[in-house]
Amino acid sequence: MPNQYGPEYVRAIAPYQAGKPIAEVAREFGLDEASIVKLASNENPFGVPESSKQAMAAAVADLGRYPDANGFELKAALSKRYDVPADWITLGNGSNDILEIAAHAFVQGGQSVVYSQYSFAVYALATQGVGARAIVVPAKAYGHDLDAMAAAICDDTRLVFIANPNNPTGTFIGAGEIEAFLQRVPAHVIVVLDEAYNEFLAPEQQFESADWVRKYPNLMVSRTFSKAYGLAGLRVGFAIAQPALTDLMNRIRQPFNVNSLAQAAAIAALNDKDFLEQGAKNNAAGYQQFVEAFDQLGLEYVPSYGNFVLVRVGDDDQAGARVNLALLRQGVIVRPVGNYGLPQWLRISIGLPQENAIFLAALKKALA
Ligand SMILES: *Cc1c(COP(=O)(O)O)cnc(C)c1O
Repeated sequence: MPNQYGPEYVRAIAPYQAGKPIAEVAREFGLDEASIVKLASNENPFGVPESSKQAMAAAVADLGRYPDANGFELKAALSKRYDVPADWITLGNGSNDILEIAAHAFVQGGQSVVYSQYSFAVYALATQGVGARAIVVPAKAYGHDLDAMAAAICDDTRLVFIANPNNPTGTFIGAGEIEAFLQRVPAHVIVVLDEAYNEFLAPEQQFESADWVRKYPNLMVSRTFSKAYGLAGLRVGFAIAQPALTDLMNRIRQPFNVNSLAQAAAIAALNDKDFLEQGAKNNAAGYQQFVEAFDQLGLEYVPSYGNFVLVRVGDDDQAGARVNLALLRQGVIVRPVGNYGLPQWLRISIGLPQENAIFLAALKKALA
């Protein structure tokens, strides 16, 4: 019998498909957990920074109390880093929380949200969760087609999501194009610029998107501590926007949405330049390791600006699922992206050199 509860738009939601946990793969395939390589969720292969571990150890004693509901110290650190007032910052339980809060704060049922085909799955979830209509704009070369997205905005559009770099495709849009888009967007439409992978960009690709927030009152920039900062398990992210937007976000968010350990760890990680540098270096080397191997194997891939690569492992619609299963049997977890409409592709997170090598060896066997 079909589910009779809840609104129709909730029943229509396809739940998020996360990367398989190591323990689950070990159980399912009878493997030793220690031998499993997980390159499925764009996590940091170096794990948690030591500086964050120390900060958390010191914060444990206070766990009997509620966290600082306003995240005073973390906001102060972010305010200093990005040169914006503290009341321009919203903290989130991961940046996923930021995306959800934005949908709830800025959009109501019957209105529309614009995002790109092959962009981050949470945009669809956040849109559907408020009963809004999704306007999904066809991708251009697996990335955002900003001209088409600007043209797709209609009277009832209240929000546009842009992922830059994009997940799962790894595409990147330069500063000039983004700013031209911001100039075209009508004033009543809010743009959430999701920069979850910003820290992996080469210095010459980086631009101070926080500066745009000063110029565009309808812009919100979203960042996370889950990827480059190695704190995915803690769930902490943030958004920068002018106070009119931040004020609405603050009304919708849970009062204690970022826990005490996460706040302490994030402050430490933010100031840990060595950790970020080590991660960026490893990522650049691992990217070369991947693309050289893909070239040798004659596999098509989308040039990536993040800490992952989307690679085409076959021509038929079962290719991604088939190769994924062959990899799982060898203890390698990657991400199939059939749910993104990319059934011939797999998304592989860049790991440590040894993990990348294990994956590449397993891939050769899986394709043979
Ligand atoms: C991983 C990711 C996020 C969310 O990560 P959180 O862990 O919730 O901070 C947001 N946007 C994109 C594009 C991502 O890939």
